[in-house]
Amino acid sequence: ATPTAVMVGTGKAAELGILIGNGEALEQARRVSAIVLDKTGTITTGRPALTDITPAGEWAPDHILALVAAAERGSEHPLGEALVAAARDRRLELPPVQHFEALPGHGLRTVVAGHTVLIGNPALMAAHGVDISSLATAATTAARTGSTPVFAAVDGQAAALLGVADTVRPEAVEAVAQLKALGLQVWMVTGDNADTATAVAAAVGIDHVLAEVLPAQKAEQIAALQAQGHIVAMAGDGINDAPALAQSDLGIAIGTGTDVAIAASDITLIGGDLNGIVSAVALSRRTVATIK
Ligand code: ADP
Ligand code: MG
Repeated sequence: ATPTAVMVGTGKAAELGILIGNGEALEQARRVSAIVLDKTGTITTGRPALTDITPAGEWAPDHILALVAAAERGSEHPLGEALVAAARDRRLELPPVQHFEALPGHGLRTVVAGHTVLIGNPALMAAHGVDISSLATAATTAARTGSTPVFAAVDGQAAALLGVADTVRPEAVEAVAQLKALGLQVWMVTGDNADTATAVAAAVGIDHVLAEVLPAQKAEQIAALQAQGHIVAMAGDGINDAPALAQSDLGIAIGTGTDVAIAASDITLIGGDLNGIVSAVALSRRTVATIK
């Protein structure tokens, strides 16, 4: 496109809440053939809430929640924030934390009130030799309804399954339908478990799901689609999405997300409205058509 057409296109986009970092991004948008959407914080609002606690053994729900919330106080993960908020709502007193270690894509390893507290997914529990079989049914039940099952273990023993549910963004269904109507293949990628991912994907009309993907693997998944000949756009909000955003042909950051995701992207959706992705592609096609 001519510099003038690009300027006009970029200006129109800005009016729609879409910040386009460079002219190349506007030109690239029309060529995109596949779009990969992160789940937590991109398809969903990223403001999940605790829905249920299933304690293991003798644990009282409020006691285990207090330990978990204390541990998560140092976390920036939306799941952690949900658990801290739940403890605050119940006015629980949070014990002191002696050690905090975030394990991206897995959860946390902490020491709270002298006890080793592990919080996260089954892979984290397996890596530390924690037997979570007594919580398997509760986890499956939570996941099938779209909640994320969060496991907690204290001193190497399973302590609770916490179901945390995130709501799908109101415009997600329509945005996905329109992206498909524009001829794009729509994918969802997430570090979350397969049952939860499948439930959320079904709710928004996405048929291609990549679940239980580690942060570094998100970029590999983008590269795999590129190797198949796709021009790939990636939309994400988290620190864990940054490598994939950088790998993609068109990185799209959710403006309400982390600075790291925004820095790694070509386009920022200021209000986080997913319809902005549809508008960017449509605008790019029009901008380029104008000058032909
Ligand atoms: P997503 O791609 O959905 O944003 P992440 O890659 O950040 O997910 O995390 C993958 C999984 O690791 C989560 O679904 C969760 O099971 C677990 N996890 C990560 N961080 C935390 C945390 N702070 N507390 C509990 N679980 C966590
Ligand atoms: Mg995310």
